[in-house]
Amino acid sequence: MPIEFPPNARGRFGDYGGRFAPETLMPALFELEQAFYEAVADPEFTGQLNQLLADYVGRPTPVFRANRLSEQLGIDLWFKREDLAHTGAHKVNNTIGQALLAARMGKPRVIAETGAGQHGVATATACALLGLECVVYMGAKDVERQRLNVYRMQLMGAEVISVEKGAATLKDAVSEAMRDWVGSVENTHYVIGSVVGPHPFPLIVREFQKVIGEELQTQLDGSPGRPRPDVIVACVGGGSNAMGIFHPYRDAGIDLVGVEAAGFGIETGSHGASLVAGSPGVIHGSRTYLLQDEQGQIIEAHSISAGLDYPGVGPEHSLYRDTGIARYVAVTDDDALGALRIMSETEGIIPALESAHGLAWIMAAAPELEGKTVVLNLSGRGDKDVEQIEKFDG
Ligand SMILES: *Cc1c(COP(=O)(O)O)cnc(C)c1O
Repeated sequence: MPIEFPPNARGRFGDYGGRFAPETLMPALFELEQAFYEAVADPEFTGQLNQLLADYVGRPTPVFRANRLSEQLGIDLWFKREDLAHTGAHKVNNTIGQALLAARMGKPRVIAETGAGQHGVATATACALLGLECVVYMGAKDVERQRLNVYRMQLMGAEVISVEKGAATLKDAVSEAMRDWVGSVENTHYVIGSVVGPHPFPLIVREFQKVIGEELQTQLDGSPGRPRPDVIVACVGGGSNAMGIFHPYRDAGIDLVGVEAAGFGIETGSHGASLVAGSPGVIHGSRTYLLQDEQGQIIEAHSISAGLDYPGVGPEHSLYRDTGIARYVAVTDDDALGALRIMSETEGIIPALESAHGLAWIMAAAPELEGKTVVLNLSGRGDKDVEQIEKFDG
């Protein structure tokens, strides 16, 4: 697969991205970059990946016209059904790609970090599939909150390491995973879960997720009953499902809308909207928009959905934002919950809370979108969120 719109030689997308990492990891990042470019140019690798995406993940995922919601909203609304991918979300597209890459590099051990556990489960899945050793770092608080996901990972043979340090949440798990990698790069690959981190990770994850947008191009190709999209909407946490669907459309002159988490409301400061309300700085190895205070200290993000609860965002989205390739908006917890209920009642699909942010924006913007063909990237299914939502009803 040819690589279009690559970052520059320093791993930058415009002013963003780069490789802000400890010296000890630089050789591993260069090795990974080279291995990745070689792999994607090798038909054996891409053939194996495509076979697994088809037979194991169930790709291509369908595109579905939401007839009842279309009628109610006065738009032509379609869902790209990543919720139907194996494990129930888009994350597995990336973890299978990176696990294959690890195997190709002769690295039998894979590490990852996870917050709510979704990326950990997707990584454990890919490692079980390919027979790789899998270690997942998770903050002790998250281990407690997400017991079922911990058990899922263990069922698939992964070792989950509970990190007690610091606040015992995601950023402490990231630090521990980094520490592990510094000491283990010889035999270990670090699977990053979104289009974030130092170069080449944002590029690698985008390339493994762009299959979403490429499929959509063939599915809605302008033939009868298959209108080309006018608007594509995706939620943005780190930004991998959004980049995956946006990238093939970056020059198409259509409206690309990334929806961040406004949490309790942008004005409360308790949100996850780094592109809407943040400013550029360095986080987890790359320069990008992030949530920071006057002193440049990172501010904790908040969202009802774990996948959007991240204070940074992939660097390529920062470029998209500044250049207007895409625009970014934010939706509150309450509006996302409302949209989740409406999608459930109206289409019989319980979406992930993350994906519900996208529908909430579409519902609010419907008067301006009248008559347009709008595609929502339905990044995942809501089974994982049902228990949490029930509590709000209680
Ligand atoms: C993890 C997750 C997200 C957020 O991650 P991105 O990298 O921004 O795509 C969105 N939706 C679902 C269902 C997820 O599991």
